[in-house]
Amino acid sequence: MIILDGKKTSQEIRNEIAEEVKTLVKKGGKTPHLAAVLVGNNGASVTYVNAKVKDCEEVGFKSTLVKLSETISEKELLEEVDKLNKDEDVDGFIVQLPLPKHIDEQKVIMAIDPAKDVDGFHPQNLGRMALNLPTYLPATPMGIMDLLDRYNIETGGKHCVVVGRSHIVGLPASILMGRNHYPGNATVTLTHSRTTNLKELLKDADIIIAALGKPDFITGDMVKDGVVVIDVGTTRVVDKTKKSGYKLKGDVEFEGVSKKASYITPVPGGVGPMTRVSLLKNTLMAARSKM
Ligand code: NAP
Repeated sequence: MIILDGKKTSQEIRNEIAEEVKTLVKKGGKTPHLAAVLVGNNGASVTYVNAKVKDCEEVGFKSTLVKLSETISEKELLEEVDKLNKDEDVDGFIVQLPLPKHIDEQKVIMAIDPAKDVDGFHPQNLGRMALNLPTYLPATPMGIMDLLDRYNIETGGKHCVVVGRSHIVGLPASILMGRNHYPGNATVTLTHSRTTNLKELLKDADIIIAALGKPDFITGDMVKDGVVVIDVGTTRVVDKTKKSGYKLKGDVEFEGVSKKASYITPVPGGVGPMTRVSLLKNTLMAARSKM
């Protein structure tokens, strides 16, 4: 069994990005600039956005954090989005989700200029992804593809079972795995809470991408020998031995499943760091497109 080390792999990609930024600037290009919009003070969102800003600094990008009040109206937020769309120095930006309940997330996503949508959530970019056209891929599915690629894992003709159909992970991951492209060319089954024969499907899977958000849901008896397991789940569970008071748990029961797997991602240290670096990749792509 080989651990798919997202921490190490993402660091390699970060180093490559940092080198590319130096070359880009040397050639007279601009320093890539990512802006992040944070609405309110949701603990997890603040942590994620701060990490994104720190990541930018580490690879030599410029970053801007736009902090907005929890009570901002939808109209005011759309105006902020419009400002970022028009700001020529900003190459790409993200609006950290979730947004407060009084704001229509889809409306905000649709307002982002697709050319600056480095989260890859705009329908135009999702459509381009489905058609195998150059675009910003959503960060988590892109991180999964990069991990499979960097470990040279064969995906062609394999049966890939994706558990969970969210717009940010499961659905795009299923599209990418089915594209006529490496990594991809898999025969994909996209499953969700209405799937009635999940156990049967999992037992047949060569590759499992688990993104349902239920800790330890997939156990050793549910998978076959040699399976490749990508565990996207990150649920906070109470752990009094940790300073934070919690630990992160994946959707896969690591102990049992790792005994049968050929490759498996740990949680933490698997898909999470790959997701973070994917946003940097998209921002670099946005900056390069202006050269
Ligand atoms: P989500 O929006 O919470 O949706 C969960 C999906 O799982 C839904 O499609 C749901 O089906 C399906 N599901 C729920 N119970 C199921 C069951 N018993 N059998 C089969 N499918 C089931 O998903 P998400 O936002 O993608 O998040 C999933 C997990 O990934 C969470 O733990 C999240 O924290 C984590 N995550 C991690 C990263 C990372 O970078 N590591 C990034 C994003 C998310 P229905 O559609 O039928 O409701």
